[in-house]
Order: sequence, then structure tokens, then C-alpha cells
Amino acid sequence: MAVSKNNSVKGQARRRRVPLRTCIGCRETASKRGLIRIVHSPTGVQVDPTGKQAGRGAYVHAQWVCWESALQGQQVAQALRMEIGPQDRQRLQAHAATLPDAECDKVVQ
Ligand SMILES: [Zn+2]
Repeated sequence: MAVSKNNSVKGQARRRRVPLRTCIGCRETASKRGLIRIVHSPTGVQVDPTGKQAGRGAYVHAQWVCWESALQGQQVAQALRMEIGPQDRQRLQAHAATLPDAECDKVVQ
């Protein structure tokens, strides 16, 4: 009698939930894919392209307008619970400058 244990019920299932994050620039939620993570690292605020750096993180859409509005106010400081120094701001602005300035895909009415 061949007893074949076929007990592996792993994988598949439960993959449908897409993690949503809020863009601190426009306050809209989006899946992580369209967002860029910034992280409060020991050396200041860093852009975290991998999304895996340790530390408190915040998300911003990959478009200039959202970075601009996030950097204009206190959103970054609030989200990361830290003070944003001139260097941090500069670093983020430099990154924002590399992004497309396309408007969000919002429906304009
Ligand atoms: Zn946004």
C-alpha cells in the first residue's frame, strides 16, 4: 500500500490583497507600485527605491507634483516624525526633479 502524503496546501490563495499606501503629497491611496518610499534613516531622509530599508517610511507618488506638495508643507516631517533639515529637503528635491511632472490620473471634471 503506497501512502503518498500530499498534504501541501501552500501557495496560491490569499494573494489578492494589494497593499495600499497613502501618498503624503496628494493624500490619495495607491498600491505600492506607483509610489516611492522615503525612509527616516540614521543619516537623514533617504529615498528608498527597494522599499525595504529599515526605519519609518512614507510614500509619495512617482511624480513631481506630489513631491512638490509634500515638500512644501510639513507632510514629510509629520509622516516620518522627524525634523527635515535643509539637506534632507535638498536631497528629496533632487530626486523629485528626476520624476515626470505629469498630473495624476485623476478625472478632471
Ligand atoms: Zn500623490
